[in-house]
Amino acid sequence: MKIDNSTSSTWQQMDAAHHLAPFTDYAEIREHGARVITHADGHYIYDGDGNMILDAMAGLWCVNVGYGQQSLVDAATEQMRILPYYNNFFKTTNQPVAALSQRLAEITPDGLNNVFYANSGSEANDTIIRMVRHFWALEGKPAKRKIIGRTYGYHGSTVMAASMGGMVDMHRQAADQPDFEHIRPPYAFLYQGNSDEAEFAAHSASLLEDKIVEVGADNVAAFIAEPIQGAGGVIIPPAGYFDHIQAICKRHDILFIADEVITGFGRTGHWFASQAMGLAPDMMTLAKGLTSGYVPMSAVMVGDRVAQRLIADGGEFYHGFTYSGHPVASAVALANLDLIEELGLVTRVRDETGPYLASALARLADHPIVGEVRSYGMLGAIELVKSKDGPTLFEDVGKAGALCRDHAIAHGMMMRAVRDGMIMSPPLTFTTQDIDKMVDIVTLALDKTA
Ligand code: PLP
Repeated sequence: MKIDNSTSSTWQQMDAAHHLAPFTDYAEIREHGARVITHADGHYIYDGDGNMILDAMAGLWCVNVGYGQQSLVDAATEQMRILPYYNNFFKTTNQPVAALSQRLAEITPDGLNNVFYANSGSEANDTIIRMVRHFWALEGKPAKRKIIGRTYGYHGSTVMAASMGGMVDMHRQAADQPDFEHIRPPYAFLYQGNSDEAEFAAHSASLLEDKIVEVGADNVAAFIAEPIQGAGGVIIPPAGYFDHIQAICKRHDILFIADEVITGFGRTGHWFASQAMGLAPDMMTLAKGLTSGYVPMSAVMVGDRVAQRLIADGGEFYHGFTYSGHPVASAVALANLDLIEELGLVTRVRDETGPYLASALARLADHPIVGEVRSYGMLGAIELVKSKDGPTLFEDVGKAGALCRDHAIAHGMMMRAVRDGMIMSPPLTFTTQDIDKMVDIVTLALDKTA
């Protein structure tokens, strides 16, 4: 379907001349321009050249309820009229943020009863870094400062969050702060070899204990992990991995942080992956699906152990943002949570669309350039290989993935490539027909790439 938009190239030129976009090769954009997204509705985005594109990424893993949801628009509009802004610094608060805090305490795992707000996942993780170090200082253990993360982990783009994450390209560009360590994730496709799932889970988790022993438990504040690594390539842990991880954290008295920025708000078929996987984190990072991306908002869920220490003898925590607990963002988040409940999205993903996605992707496993398919709830990945004997990876990592992604976009579907893995994270409102369409386009893209 084409839409009339004759001025697309004007916007493109204006943009290319001045806009330094995130995670973008500037030379390429200055030369070719960016795709101008003009509007969106349901599960489709529309560009200035008249293309209608099925959004199999839910924006950037965030538009959980799909586009064009009037109740979120109404919540924002009404709140802007009533109270568009006031800060929460000076012993003041607002009604939406109070209601949202209670609601988040109810739906997150037991023991996470306290919430600190920010605007992005990166800021929330920065907050966590300060908060855990402050916590240990109050506990009389100021040396406990190191935070252990994982290779391919993504926790944001601020200097601290990027240092904590495990993306080496980011480390190379001035995100190399001290006191962050990284271990190998349980990436079965690359590392499992001939071991069985239980052995692989135990061995992958043992790398955390090795690291703690190497740097000394007295120096380690926390271990942070995405329950499923998203931006790193939808890396799903083997059963039992996090049981071992949690036992290790307990044994060495290290806080366990679950970054649920992607896995939260129904994406795994549970409100949070922590509930699906039996995790009891001390802190949890939330963003994206909190407002389905309609307005920026993030949150740190703080467990009772940390919160009680901060409350008991912390004094003032010198930390916060102008927009922490923004009333409009809070109102949109509440409307978003209402809608997720009203539409039954969490159970729909668990019982219907999640299993349907798994079986639809399984049909691609025999394709000559597919080495593995995997999914969990509404997260999916397809690993491309040069040959199925081995499996043998492409030498020029990322080239086949980028080609396959571009073919998918040319056929009307947005998906991402991480190295040579094709990534899908559609809105939770996707129907089985949407999944069929998505898999049909993926098949076309695979055929063209082969
Ligand atoms: N944590 C995870 C797991 C993420 O996937 C992201 C973003 O993709 C972030 C943190 C950072 O969030 P933001 O981009 O809102 O700063």
